[in-house]
Parts: sequence; C-alpha cells; structure tokens
Amino acid sequence: MSPTSSIPTLPAYDDFADGFRGSVLRSRDDGFEDARVVFNGRTADTTPALIARCTDKDDVAAALRYASARDLPVAVRGGGHGADGHAMPGGALVLDLSGMRETSVDPQTRTVRAQAGVVLGELDAATQEHGLVVPSGTVTTTGIAGLTLGGGIGHLMRRFGATVDSLLACEMITVDGRKVRADEKENPDLFWALRGGGGNFGVVTAFEYRAHPLGPGVVSGQIVFPGEQAAAVLSKLHALMADAPRELGLGTTLTVAPPLPELTEATHGKPVLILIPCYTGPLQNAEEVIERLSMLGTPVLNTVGPTTWLATNSMLDAIVPYGRRTTIRGGYLATLDQPVVDALLERLADVPDTPGTMSTINVWSLGGAISEDVGEDATAFSRTGASWLWECAPVWTERDHDAQFDKWADATVSALRPYTLPNAYTNLTQDMGEAWRRGVFGSEAKYRRLAEIKAVWDPRNLLRHNKNIAPATVE
Ligand SMILES: Cc1cc2nc3c(=O)[nH]c(=O)nc-3n(C[C@H](O)[C@H](O)[C@H](O)COP(=O)(O)OP(=O)(O)OC[C@H]3O[C@@H](n4cnc5c(N)ncnc54)[C@H](O)[C@@H]3O)c2cc1C
Repeated sequence: MSPTSSIPTLPAYDDFADGFRGSVLRSRDDGFEDARVVFNGRTADTTPALIARCTDKDDVAAALRYASARDLPVAVRGGGHGADGHAMPGGALVLDLSGMRETSVDPQTRTVRAQAGVVLGELDAATQEHGLVVPSGTVTTTGIAGLTLGGGIGHLMRRFGATVDSLLACEMITVDGRKVRADEKENPDLFWALRGGGGNFGVVTAFEYRAHPLGPGVVSGQIVFPGEQAAAVLSKLHALMADAPRELGLGTTLTVAPPLPELTEATHGKPVLILIPCYTGPLQNAEEVIERLSMLGTPVLNTVGPTTWLATNSMLDAIVPYGRRTTIRGGYLATLDQPVVDALLERLADVPDTPGTMSTINVWSLGGAISEDVGEDATAFSRTGASWLWECAPVWTERDHDAQFDKWADATVSALRPYTLPNAYTNLTQDMGEAWRRGVFGSEAKYRRLAEIKAVWDPRNLLRHNKNIAPATVE
C-alpha cells in the first residue's frame, strides 16, 4: 500500500479548534508535505491527520482544550529529532511548536528564556552573543524541547552537566489547557519530572535556563585513527578520562571512513576510530591535554586546534542530514574495558556494506559535572553508575534497507547487553519496551514517582506519543 492511499481514512477534525490562530494543515493542503518532515525519514511511511502549527501558548492551550474535550491523544513536534518519530505519527493530531522560536538572554543574571520551537544552533547563537552558553547537544538542528525534557548531553556535559542541570523553569500548558509554571518552588514535583521524564506531563511552551560563561574560543576537532589501532586506543580511554580535567569533553565514533579528501585514499572505505575532543579550559593547557589523546596511537588525521564554540557545536551537522531513514539504539556503560571494546569493534566489522549509507557507533565520555554534581534522585534524568554512553546510529535512504539496518542495530544491542546498565539516557535510544522503561530512570522508586506525577497531570494519557509513562493507578 502506498503511504498516500490511507489518506481518505484519516480523521478530518473539521471543527478544529476554537480560538486557534495558527495554521492548520491536513494531508491535501499546500505545505503539508513540508510540515510533516522530521529527522527520521521513516515517518514518511504514515501520514498524520492534522498538523496544528502553534504561534504561541494560547494556540497550544486552544489545541489541548479541543483534544481534551474529545479525549484525543496528541503528538508534539519540537525540533523533530526524536528517533522514534513520535513527533509525527500516522493518523495523529500533531501540535507543531516549531514556529515558536524566540530566545532572550539576560547577561546580568545569566539566564535565558527560549520558546519550545528553538533549535540548538539558535540557542548557541543567542547565548554566544553574550559570551554565554547553555550546555546542550551536538547537532544544531536538534530541538531544545525534546532534548531538555529527556536530559540533554553534549560536548560540555563534563564541565557544566546535563541540560536539565541548568534548567531553572518550564512554562507548560496542561492537557486541559491551563497555563502553569514548574520550578523549584512552584509545582516542584512536576519540575522534577520534566527534568528527564520526557513529554509525558504537558506541553512545554518555554524553558528558562542558567547560562555559563564560555568562549568564543575553544579547542576542538577530530583525531582519526586507522581501524587496526582502534582497540588499543579505545581501551586506554577509561583511565585517561578518569584523570582528565572537566574542561575536556570527549566523543568517539567508530565508522567506515567516507571518501573525504582530508583522509588518505588508503583509509577510504576502511574502519576508523575518530576521537572528537572539545577542550574549554585555559588555552595554554590545551596542547598537553589534546596530546594525551593523539599520542594514544598514530593518527591518520588530526584537525584539533583553536576554533570557536559555534564552529565546534556544528561540526557534526554534515553527517546527519534531516529526512534520512534511521534507528538509534544505545545505553550507558560503567567502563570501557577490553570486553566492551571487543564487542564494539565486532559490531563495526558487521556493519551493512550498503553504498550511500552511513553507520556510526558513538561512545561519549561522561564523568565530571554530569556524574558528580547532581544527585541521582534530584531529577528524573538518570546517570547513576554511567561513565560512558554508547549509541549506534545507522542512516540510510531506501525503505528496502530498513530490515538490514534494524537487524544490525538489534544485534548491536544484544552484543552490548552484558555491559549495558539498566538505566539509560532515554533520548539517545529508541524505546525498548515496557521492562526497559521501568528501569531506564534508575530505580523502581523513580519510575513509580513519575507514574504518580503522570496521573496528576495527564491521567487519561493523552500525551502517549512518547516514551510513555503510564499513569499510576491508585492501589
Ligand atoms: C542527529 C541527532 C543528534 C542528536 N544529538 C543529541 C545530542 O548531542 N545530545 C542529546 O542529548 N540528544 C541528542 N539527540 C537526541 C535528541 O535529544 C532527542 O531526539 C530529542 O527528543 C529531540 O528533541 P526534538 O524537539 O528535536 O524532537 P521532537 O521529535 O520534536 O520531539 C521528541 C519528543 O519530545 C516531546 N516533546 C517535544 N517538544 C515538546 C514540548 N514542547 N512539550 C512536551 N513534549 C515535547 C514529544 O514527546 C516528542 O515526541 C540527537 C538526535 C538526533 C536525531
């Protein structure tokens, strides 16, 4: 069946919605095809019923009142990067917040208010105008909304913590259309849940963050080692990062080298390990800190040097264009010892050799502020025991290739299962089912608390297009 042949059966929601002032798009409207595109191109296989493009919080409230009165589940689109494609499900009523794009920075109080449609590149640009930063993720087109509500990790997490650790408040519309604020004093339980529990509790229209002084100068780049050296380099990283300053962020990528002119021809099409350091400490110490990484082997390429924060936090954009097909699986690791390294390299060796596709296994170093400065139970976001985060992220274009990449990703999960912790960062993996969701927040008590808060704010589970926390039932 072609994706469009299901259109006539979609609900029309002809009476949508009293007081809604934004544009409303159904499948045959001009602009619908563009509006439905999200990061994961697999959502093109199904068609949402209606996309309500909200202009402000009143639109969000009007849309939610409409849905609530009819008991309709709603999906929410921020930056559209959610790997599960929950932002644009087939047949759904979608609240699209991508038009709500204002950011304001107060350099005196070092606070930032950003609307829920803002993407990371915009947040970085606005804060850097004042020499400030909010720690977030590593790709500029990712939305602040989904990223923050899940936790938020990136190059600066060892120095400034997760994004939720810098979150001061959320402005939220409840499922029945009320405007509320959540911070440490007002609705503190809700604020706790919004820091890691995802889009389960209401629709957030704006976030307030604490910003930190940074840049514009930082030291970053990529150090590429040939596949034969990957095991030796990777197995030394745990000890090195345990001793590294918080100002050093480190991502690593295992992949098959694309035919880039910067790489020698002998490397093209061969497995490589790429270290992606970002050092934000004093410039005079940078050389020594980076050398400890480059001396782990004999790199075939080393681009690390002084640059800007804005260039650093967009350097990965080119490998993740919008609209390709993908799946993301991942989890936390306590260590990066030999058995883990062997499993990672075995999975790289098995990557589908399909022209025009790009598969990576990424491993990020935690530690420092994200691991040590905020207690496990202080937010819903779980981090306990995690020193590393792994994720596999194949990207391809043809529907016919779905099965082979899903199979590779499943096998990667299985290979790493013995070393993967039960808790995880929910945003950098697809949903792995009910048992996984119960463990992902780090303890049964935290899951129970989330389910109870869900029961208060969304008892009918209208917000279910997400990594869903079912409302607790009273026992
Ligand atoms: C290429 C790529 C790179 C990534 N890099 C990083 C990274 O470096 N660091 C990191 O931490 N994560 C990263 N992620 C994961 C990312 O944080 C999540 O995918 C996140 O959900 C994206 O948020 P979004 O608003 O763009 O996505 P969307 O798909 O729009 O939203 C995801 C989900 O969040 C919820 N949601 C969104 N907006 C709202 C709202 N206003 N109110 C309530 N609920 C809402 C909904 O449940 C929605 O389904 C990356 C993902 C991709 C695809």
